[in-house]
Amino acid sequence: MTDLETPKSWAMLHAKCPRCRRGNMFEGGMYRFGSNRININCPHCHMTFEIEPGYFYAAMYVSYALNIMEVGFFCTLTYLLTHNGDSPWLYVSTIITGCLLIAPVNFRYSRVFLLYWLSPKVHYHRELDRPEPKNTQEKAVNSFINLKTIK
Ligand SMILES: [Zn+2]
Repeated sequence: MTDLETPKSWAMLHAKCPRCRRGNMFEGGMYRFGSNRININCPHCHMTFEIEPGYFYAAMYVSYALNIMEVGFFCTLTYLLTHNGDSPWLYVSTIITGCLLIAPVNFRYSRVFLLYWLSPKVHYHRELDRPEPKNTQEKAVNSFINLKTIK
């Protein structure tokens, strides 16, 4: 996989950096308590994920859109499983429980979608999409290439 570029869909699914598709955007696992935080910089190419102050406020709109789709999904699923058209509380409790359980997914993928699809300044750099260097000579070459890319 050294000469091939990392597929965009794979990088998005694994929440990798949109510029190099190698570094993790988030530290820790999705459902670990207290650690679902986005890294300040990409650990591989050092891109700053928050492009400007307050940039991730826009992720709330993406998260809202995701929640609307999930509400539709949970309503449909509840109707298909129970065929209940009488009790609104069944739907309300299903929607609230489902949305709370899936909130970490929304948090993570709203930021991924924002950076990959809705940020025109962020582009993929194929030259940064390569494995971590093994020795000091490779590290020196990689940091030189990273500096050229950043400028
Ligand atoms: Zn990166």
